[in-house]
Amino acid sequence: MSVTGLCSICEAAPARHMCEHCGALVCDDHFNQRVGVCVNCARSMGRAPRDR
Ligand SMILES: [Zn+2]
Ligand SMILES: [Zn+2]
Repeated sequence: MSVTGLCSICEAAPARHMCEHCGALVCDDHFNQRVGVCVNCARSMGRAPRDR
C-alpha cells in the first residue's frame, strides 16, 4: 500500500504511514509504530508508555 502526500502533522516530510485511528497521513517521525497511530492519537489515547 502506497501513501502519497505530506505528513499532516509537520507538513514537511513525506507521509509514509496512515494512522489507524484518525486516518491522518504521517511521516516516520510522527507515527507510533507500537500502536499503529499518529503521535497525536497515541498521546490522546494515553498509550504512549514512555510519555512521562
Ligand atoms: Zn511529520
Ligand atoms: Zn491519528
